[in-house]
Amino acid sequence: MFILKGIDQLEKAIAKAKKIRPRVEFDHFGRYRVSGSKGFYTVLCKRSDNGFKTVICTCKGAEKGLVCYHAAAALSLHIGLARQQPSA
Ligand SMILES: [Zn+2]
Repeated sequence: MFILKGIDQLEKAIAKAKKIRPRVEFDHFGRYRVSGSKGFYTVLCKRSDNGFKTVICTCKGAEKGLVCYHAAAALSLHIGLARQQPSA
């Protein structure tokens, strides 16, 4: 799990996602499934009480607090969807 403070935090993970091009499946708003080396990982994006975006991925890297490419791939979809939702 990590807290998203800025888009530059995602730079490396986005570059990796662009190279690997994981499959992102939309589950519902804020919940995505992203393909990885060992099957699908679940990525959850939610806004915490203090206003920060919290991103949770079920992969090993994210467990250690790393910004993984699964999260980056899911976030690019999430951010696009959030823009279409006036309340998000
Ligand atoms: Zn991950």
